[in-house]
Amino acid sequence: MTPKSEILIVGGGVAGLSLATQLGRSLGKTGKARITLIDRGFAHVWKPMLHCFAAGTVVNENDRISFINQASGHHFEFWPGEVVSIDRAKREVTLSPFHASDGTQVLESRTMNYDAIVLAIGSCANDFGTPGVAEHCLSIDNLVEANAFNEKFRMELLRAFADSSELDIAIVGGGATGTQLAAELHKALDIVDSFSLHAFGKTPPALRVTLLQSGARILPAFPESVSIAAKEQLERIGVTVRTSARVAAADATGFILKDGTHIPAKLRVWAAGVRAPEVTKTYGGLSLSKSGQILVKPNLCSIDDENIFAMGDCSFVADDPLPATAQVARQQANHLGHHLPAWIERKQPVSSCVFQNKGAIVALGTYNGWAALPGGSVWGGGFTHGLSARLAHIMLYRQHQIALFGLFRGLISCLSDWMETFVRPSVRLD
Ligand SMILES: Cc1cc2nc3c(=O)[nH]c(=O)nc-3n(C[C@H](O)[C@H](O)[C@H](O)COP(=O)(O)OP(=O)(O)OC[C@H]3O[C@@H](n4cnc5c(N)ncnc54)[C@H](O)[C@@H]3O)c2cc1C
Repeated sequence: MTPKSEILIVGGGVAGLSLATQLGRSLGKTGKARITLIDRGFAHVWKPMLHCFAAGTVVNENDRISFINQASGHHFEFWPGEVVSIDRAKREVTLSPFHASDGTQVLESRTMNYDAIVLAIGSCANDFGTPGVAEHCLSIDNLVEANAFNEKFRMELLRAFADSSELDIAIVGGGATGTQLAAELHKALDIVDSFSLHAFGKTPPALRVTLLQSGARILPAFPESVSIAAKEQLERIGVTVRTSARVAAADATGFILKDGTHIPAKLRVWAAGVRAPEVTKTYGGLSLSKSGQILVKPNLCSIDDENIFAMGDCSFVADDPLPATAQVARQQANHLGHHLPAWIERKQPVSSCVFQNKGAIVALGTYNGWAALPGGSVWGGGFTHGLSARLAHIMLYRQHQIALFGLFRGLISCLSDWMETFVRPSVRLD
């Protein structure tokens, strides 16, 4: 009997978990290949929701999808661990030792062989070497960081309640992450308001959020009309938006701008641009972009090795650079999910992945939302349209869940989430 092909998928994010599920349903179920997903964590979260975890406005355990549970129901295997190197000659990856949260080593360093590997390890914040950022700023690139920010946010709010003082937060980066986080933090405080009066007998503290954007407008990926409307909306809820504000350094008290202005901030968030994780440098000498992403051909195969594919934020199609978005990651996963089975079984070449721009959506908490449709038209703003744009934002997540769970379980999950809203607090309080 011919041995099964070994396919490793590294990273169980938007792209990786979707691909593992699709290949499990095709090649895994029929026994034509062994599909193994490797991730450094045990659960998947929809990354475009991380600012809600950071603000504490998403408190639902159902929003974490266990890799082990997903694997057992979809004919693939899962191993926790961080892939730290690739030996392309031996077709072997090395996983670093695995540690428990108290630091105890649970698993030793391991190696795994592959016939094909798909890298989908996402991205992290790019501080462009700005002095003080690594030491003094938080980012919200994964669930651990978003939860760590939330813990600090709740503790600083508590301190501000006790002292009747103000809480200053500054966010660098006026893209979707920074802009949505600024609004979500205000939404969290609005909700806390209704609990706080009884619990502390004090009026809630003033939250002063400053959004710093180096360019001339926030949300530069959207049409100018959305940037203007979003800025006005943020200012209405109390966010200070400073455009053309280039940050020169960060320290323990705030940010220093290029013109010398000091922006005071108890909590400092860096959300300006992304790059691939440093570890791509140790992936078998693969060619990388300036931001460390793996250079791939239009069919998502590495330009150096026909057995290595990369997709999502950690990949870079040199001929047709695409933004680091969930939409791109999902389309690339669907493309490989469709074409890899024939490549594995018959070595049929994988065709080019053609990105179809379906537009972009931004939601400012429950305050407003906009969708920029292909062709330049904009939909959203105002109460009714803002509401529909916000609903469309939620629908993208539900679509992702349905793709992973199947229609029936996906709809049950939506229903149970909706029912839980009647019994759990709408903001994280502990
Ligand atoms: C706060 C926020 C809001 C956003 N909002 C939007 C939005 O509204 N719309 C939109 O389109 N996009 C948005 N994005 C961007 C979007 O989330 C990403 O483009 C998308 O998640 C990329 O998917 P991915 O599969 O490439 O990586 P990810 O989803 O980041 O997944 C990477 C996975 O790889 C794992 N991993 C990393 N390194 C290793 C390793 N060495 N070994 C093993 N596993 C590893 C990680 O644990 C993770 O599970 C947002 C991002 C953030 C942070």
